[in-house]
Amino acid sequence: MPAQFETFLCLSDNIGVLMHDPATGATAAIDVPDAAAALAAAGRRGWTISDILITHEHVDHVQGVAELKEKTGARVTGPMQARASAPVDSIIEDGAQVKVGDLVGEVRATPGHAAGHVIYHFPKENAAFVGDVLFVMGCGRVNGSVDEMWRSVTAVGALPDDTRLWVGHDYTLSNAKFALSVEPDNEDVQKRFMRAETMKANGELWGTTNVGMEKLTNPFLRLKQPAVRKSTQLTEAATPREVFAALREMKNRF
Ligand SMILES: [Zn+2]
Repeated sequence: MPAQFETFLCLSDNIGVLMHDPATGATAAIDVPDAAAALAAAGRRGWTISDILITHEHVDHVQGVAELKEKTGARVTGPMQARASAPVDSIIEDGAQVKVGDLVGEVRATPGHAAGHVIYHFPKENAAFVGDVLFVMGCGRVNGSVDEMWRSVTAVGALPDDTRLWVGHDYTLSNAKFALSVEPDNEDVQKRFMRAETMKANGELWGTTNVGMEKLTNPFLRLKQPAVRKSTQLTEAATPREVFAALREMKNRF
């Protein structure tokens, strides 16, 4: 039986998500910005949270973990760096396997936004939880090195095209504006920009996407496109890593 998902808003722009295994009843919360919001989402679906998977140590992703663990008894899995601010039962590293009921996920270290950042990829479910590495049409801020972030973003882009992605924040409209400024003639970006405006106007959350759509519209996954490179004013000799660094700087000032 395929996994089921529930996506919901936490705080002002964090994306909350639950993944449910219908075969066993296991349910994972991926990050806990707000324990009450996670419990309400589980209640709407009649699910009981059994697991918490942490993508990274930033406070807006872990601040509800202790409360949610206390109220549900959920087992907490996350990187070592999260232990300073959350009760992590099981520390994971690159290449580790995680299980939510019968659902099997692979952990990949993806530093750059946070030293301990990991993503969780569930290949059989065509699903990945990418935290603050990749956003819809954008990517996370660099707090480590640009090289690390470039590799981490590229690793998400290397997952199969039909992989569904849950991202850490709904920054979609702001990212769409930036993507359009980089590639004004990209029709896929134009369409998604209009959709982002409509969804924002309707108060709808946009925190999910897939790898294929990001490869068509996310400038940080389009580093070899001549139009993207030109927007950075780098020469044709520029490497994808150099284009990435320039784009990230442009977005910081956008
Ligand atoms: Zn973060």
